Amino acid sequence: MKYGIPRGTKDILPAEAKLWQLVEQACREIFALYDYSEIRTPIFEFTDLFTRSIGSGTDIVKKEMYTFADRKGRSLTLRPEATAAVVRAGIENNLISIESLAKLYYLGPMFRYERPQAGRQRQFHQAGVEVFGSADPRLDAEVIELSVRLFEKVGLKDLVVNLNSVGCPKCQPEFRGAIKKHFAQHISDMCQDCRDRLEQNPMRILDCKEAHCQKYLEKAPASLDYLCPECKNHFDQVVGWLGNLGIKYQVNDRLVRGLDYYTKTAFEVIARQLGAQNAVCGGGRYDNLVAELGGKATPAIGFAIGLERVISLITDHQLPITNEGNIKLFIATLGEAATKQGFALLSQARALGISADMDFLGKSLKAQLKNADRLKAAFVYVMGDEEVKKGSAGLKNMATGEQSEVEFSQLITRLK
Ligand code: ATP
Ligand code: MG
Repeated sequence: MKYGIPRGTKDILPAEAKLWQLVEQACREIFALYDYSEIRTPIFEFTDLFTRSIGSGTDIVKKEMYTFADRKGRSLTLRPEATAAVVRAGIENNLISIESLAKLYYLGPMFRYERPQAGRQRQFHQAGVEVFGSADPRLDAEVIELSVRLFEKVGLKDLVVNLNSVGCPKCQPEFRGAIKKHFAQHISDMCQDCRDRLEQNPMRILDCKEAHCQKYLEKAPASLDYLCPECKNHFDQVVGWLGNLGIKYQVNDRLVRGLDYYTKTAFEVIARQLGAQNAVCGGGRYDNLVAELGGKATPAIGFAIGLERVISLITDHQLPITNEGNIKLFIATLGEAATKQGFALLSQARALGISADMDFLGKSLKAQLKNADRLKAAFVYVMGDEEVKKGSAGLKNMATGEQSEVEFSQLITRLK
């Protein structure tokens, strides 16, 4: 019997995991630089949380959720995204209020039952931020800047920020009416999803990826033309602040996001090299979600980055982020006494923070040295029975080839 991996999931093997660690580290560093703190929420939540926040007419809720009943018959769902869970946790733990700003970030796996293809998996990973407590358009600009700086930090170039405003409950009804009127003329020639959306959630039609529907999307009314004075003013200010920060962007009045909770600012960061699945980051403002989920009305904004897509850009283009060297010390031994002594030194080295390893396969000295090379050990310490008697052995600096005699008791201090 052989077991295979479930469709749409991937093993991240050690060589690639190293790259993941570097990207995750870059995320953590830049989030900290912008004063965000980490929050970790469960992998599953009550299903209602997602239905309510993401919206029952969205693709995610309609066909992409991994939903199951637990042993007591409660409906649970593997998180398809993290914003709803962060809002839930924020309300439950009193992290969210209008008097102070809460800046949170997360990093971890998400689950969506989608058709697997390049850049699209069923278990994938996101890093994202959420800010609660301010409607200031400076924050919209800052959050967009943060995503751009993060991509720069990991060495990604040629990214384009797409910017739009999807309005608010005050201006959306009129826009929705205009959209409905426009698509009603063409709907008989459009896909089944679009037909369903026309009644349930006409703005969603703009997010249709079906090739055949695209020609009707092009001529559709733009939300920017329907913004109320407040939303218009907000959008103009975001644009102004982005200009001040020197962040390049393109206004894309077709951009609506795949979740219902967005208000005002919506944005995506696009990497053209990625082909069809080319969005590496999606986000926007969601000023009504906290109240919608039972908290006090609190404005908020956030984004999520698709880490698989970031990683694939880095590996495809061999960008500057590279694997660093591995262990610092390899202890090569010959004979039982040396192995015993080496094993003790190995433990001491690790206890004092020096990454180290030795042979566990009974390999010849020559094979051990070869392995030390493969592991990119910075130093190799070679000992046999004679060295054990002397209490010292040769320490070789692998970069310079230099070798010196070092007493066992001095080994750790020398390496430090
Ligand atoms: P898309 O239009 O590509 O489906 P989305 O609007 O569903 O994206 P969001 O929910 O905004 O995506 O998620 C933010 C980011 O997470 C996306 O820009 C993308 O990089 C990544 N992402 C979303 N779904 C997947 C998936 N199934 N596999 C890998 N990455 C994904
Ligand atoms: Mg999607």
